[in-house]
Amino acid sequence: MSVLTADLLERGILTAESRVHGTGRPSTRLALSASSAFFIGVSLASDPYILRVTDLHGEVVATDHMAASASPETIVASIAAAVARVLESGTVDAGRITGIGLAIPGLVDATASTCIRSTLLGWRDVAIGAMIAEATGLPTFIENDANALALGEHLFGSLRGSDAGAVISVGDGIGCGLIVNGELHRGSRGGAGEIAHSTIEPGGLPCKCGKRGCLDTLASLRSIGHFAREAGLPDDPLALDALASDGDNDAIAILHRAGAALGLAISQLVQTLDPERIVVAVTEGLTDGLYARVMRQTVEANVMPSESPQVQLTTIGVDQQAWAIGAASVAAGRALFRL
Ligand SMILES: [Zn+2]
Repeated sequence: MSVLTADLLERGILTAESRVHGTGRPSTRLALSASSAFFIGVSLASDPYILRVTDLHGEVVATDHMAASASPETIVASIAAAVARVLESGTVDAGRITGIGLAIPGLVDATASTCIRSTLLGWRDVAIGAMIAEATGLPTFIENDANALALGEHLFGSLRGSDAGAVISVGDGIGCGLIVNGELHRGSRGGAGEIAHSTIEPGGLPCKCGKRGCLDTLASLRSIGHFAREAGLPDDPLALDALASDGDNDAIAILHRAGAALGLAISQLVQTLDPERIVVAVTEGLTDGLYARVMRQTVEANVMPSESPQVQLTTIGVDQQAWAIGAASVAAGRALFRL
């Protein structure tokens, strides 16, 4: 431990704050120095793409945007230009930038820094990590977007200090990142946490993955919007939630069905993983509406009763920026903690 501490002190990552006198030898209180390292995070899960620079405490110190594109070459050039702009602005010490984290909507091989497949970007086996590293001269780490969000919450947010937990993100699609034994759990092929394609309604609606009745076909915001349009209602989930609050039966039925589907999937996750905490990240405004309430009730009704404390289920609102902070956490986790 003291060897590790000495190394971190020498690198300026840890600072000695004060001497603490108690029983036994006096000890030194150590703290992570916020400005000792900076991490760049880029999210390809939003439009436009967002770049954020965070310090060691997860605080955002710089932000930039770039036009969305499916071309790896264009993305690499955009990221290199955005990094150059951030460095020129002088807000961060270039020498203290530890690396770039990239959050990709798709299946990634984190070790090889390759995107194996992304339906959204139309990619197959794209060595995007090496391309960005070459263009920027900075170590680049890639991660699936849901995993990046989970890592961000684990290092800096609501999953901090939790050994077993999950972050479920509900947007156009549904993602899930798992923390097991205090580390991100990617599975044997990087596909862990694909609850979006768990069958919730056998023989149900066709899913883009080729199966039927997946969670994604029932509970994603894209699916909710689809059902709303079919019923002649606005497809904006916040407007739909407001209609449900006013007693519109169709809006209530759509949100009830979606919330129940998500709750059922989460209850299965609770039974399998036995997590301390589950964080459901949804668009701001939906965190306490009908969708979230039904989701919570369904989890409570479908998790086996137990003497021990129940899983803590937290709902948080996320904006597009949260994904870029998650991406920066990937760089922080890999560069510092080998997560
Ligand atoms: Zn599916």
